Amino acid sequence: MRCWAILVAAGRGERANLPINKVFYPINGRSALERSVQRLWQSGCFEGITLVISREDEAEYARLIRRTGPLPLVAKLAFGGETRQQSVLNGLLALPEGIDLVAIHDAARAFVPLEVIQKAVADAERFGSGVASTWLVDTVKFVDEENRALSTPRRAQMRAVQTPQVFRFSSILNAHRQAVLDGFSATDDAALLEHYGEPVHLSVTREGMANKKLTTLEDFQAMEKQLAGSLRIGHGFDAHRLVPERGLYLGGILIPHNKGLLGHSDGDVALHALMDALLGAAGLGDIGRIFPDDDPDTLGIRSTLLLEQVRERLYEAGMHTVNVDLTLVAQAPKLSPHMDGMRDAIAGLLHLDTSRVNIKATTTEHMGYVGRGEGISAYAVAMIGG
Ligand code: MG
Repeated sequence: MRCWAILVAAGRGERANLPINKVFYPINGRSALERSVQRLWQSGCFEGITLVISREDEAEYARLIRRTGPLPLVAKLAFGGETRQQSVLNGLLALPEGIDLVAIHDAARAFVPLEVIQKAVADAERFGSGVASTWLVDTVKFVDEENRALSTPRRAQMRAVQTPQVFRFSSILNAHRQAVLDGFSATDDAALLEHYGEPVHLSVTREGMANKKLTTLEDFQAMEKQLAGSLRIGHGFDAHRLVPERGLYLGGILIPHNKGLLGHSDGDVALHALMDALLGAAGLGDIGRIFPDDDPDTLGIRSTLLLEQVRERLYEAGMHTVNVDLTLVAQAPKLSPHMDGMRDAIAGLLHLDTSRVNIKATTTEHMGYVGRGEGISAYAVAMIGG
């Protein structure tokens, strides 16, 4: 079955009381929007994503993808309406032809476990719908306006309903269209089908307990604290020999000099140290193991391409770079005029804001191999997180 996702990010998120739309707000360096896209991509369930954003957020979205490049799977963009329901309908109307199942997901549920997505899709394939949900922890009561308890429904018969909600495309589109004609509105998509008497299957998972919706400022603060526990650090070191008649590639850029760094690749020690720091933090070994220096395919390769592959490996593992710090050790050339260029290059390659990339340079005051101009070395520290 062809399965597509609609990611709804068009809300104003006023309850979060943040300076920008909450889905663009960085949590540990990465926004809820990026995280949601990553989870949908990692689930392996979807052919593509239609992202629904508010027109007011067009500039913010443009800023985001200038940093990250196109987000994986995001094939279409739709604009939000006055209500969430209208936004979803705009997303449904922007779907490509021939889609069987559509998963509607709120970008504020940025930490949706992969099992929740996969179960909802599998259930929709089997039952026609799969609505992510979990058990209630709290007892729920009906109350009057003065908060006097009226009755207590049995908790065992209740479910907390979340997203993604997966439906047959034709069913959910018809329900949305009919709701427009009838002026009927509901807080979730499943309720539209229920209203028109269509069966809705709830996809109940234990993992759903972790499928939190980021709503208030406190939710963001708590998530940031929780994520602090997933931070990991790595260190890298590399040194290469300087030889004549080679371009000097350092920190991802070409630097004018009468010598260049010898190596199987372009010899960019800064990026090599950085890759080792990232792989070290991720527990993924080192560049020698991933890109062996007797591989003819990587002979003379730009290290920028290798770093992009390392970034992808982290992404696949559900991790991302939080910040990096490099120290370059060279007697010559003078590196200060090139620091900004290197910083921009590395930030671009890692999809990071430049404020999260730091580069320092030092000489060794003419001591040792670096001091004699025989080579350049580099140290890197990288922090990564979930
Ligand atoms: Mg090296």
